Amino acid sequence: MNKYMIYLNTKRCIGCHGCEIHCKTNKKLPFGAILCEIDHQPLTSIRGVPKTEFSFRSCYQCDEPYCASICPTGAISKREDGIVLVDEEKCIGCMACAGACPWGVPQLNQEKNKMVKCDFCVDRVDQGMEPVCVTKCTTQALRFVTLTRF
Ligand code: SF4
Ligand code: SF4
Ligand code: SF4
Repeated sequence: MNKYMIYLNTKRCIGCHGCEIHCKTNKKLPFGAILCEIDHQPLTSIRGVPKTEFSFRSCYQCDEPYCASICPTGAISKREDGIVLVDEEKCIGCMACAGACPWGVPQLNQEKNKMVKCDFCVDRVDQGMEPVCVTKCTTQALRFVTLTRF
């Protein structure tokens, strides 16, 4: 089975947060909810020049997702290709999945009282396109890659 992954080339990232903003816009998320995040980690180079390294955080699309196993309504499922999805129709906004996820990934869309999480823009993936964060990154620091499982 293949599995998708978003990979950040830290040498190309400039920390502009464009990926976060385009993701929020695409998913029409209200204030507070964020599905991917760029972290800034201050480093000092060997010549003493201050530098910052960036990392990208989002849902890890776990093999055995705790979020899915705790959901009382069966709203979270994992597809054959590894993408973990929230079914809005079934979600009652109880936030149990947010507590169960080791990284607190699921976010409440307070306007809808529904949980949201990164699903690699699954509607785009199903049409052969890449996630919005990847296509909008101006420095091409983000890559959407397919891992082959053995
Ligand atoms: S849009 Fe690209 S360059 Fe900007 S923060 Fe995101 S990954 Fe980094
Ligand atoms: S929300 Fe958390 S537990 Fe669920 S698949 Fe994503 S990282 Fe894993
Ligand atoms: S908030 Fe929704 S998706 Fe999360 S555990 Fe509750 S019903 Fe399931």
